[in-house]
Amino acid sequence: MADCELCGVARPTLCPVKVKAPGVLSAYPAGTWRGINLECLNICHEANMQRVPIKAKKCDLCSSKNVPLFQVKVPVPIFQEPYHRETIKAICESCFEACEDTIKRREAEKEESHHH
Ligand SMILES: [Zn+2]
Ligand SMILES: [Zn+2]
Repeated sequence: MADCELCGVARPTLCPVKVKAPGVLSAYPAGTWRGINLECLNICHEANMQRVPIKAKKCDLCSSKNVPLFQVKVPVPIFQEPYHRETIKAICESCFEACEDTIKRREAEKEESHHH
């Protein structure tokens, strides 16, 4: 099991998203992997369509500062009714693109498995 880096929900498998984290960009210029679950991947995809700006200090996925950020509403689990709370996260444009890449890659993989 691994925890989603956005909402914290544990899943057997996460969707790897390649982000350009500024802190380690010199060590990993091609980007580093963040794991988010499928729910969050879809939420990011929808948020990318809407692009609602949000004022935040940094991107919640790659920690980029001083970049335009957009709001993403993720349901974070809590231990009482209704068992999740909508939490607003801030995601940068480059992470949105990374999410789109992951979605495209997943779709390509799905195509592959249909042929076999
Ligand atoms: Zn998540
Ligand atoms: Zn980011």
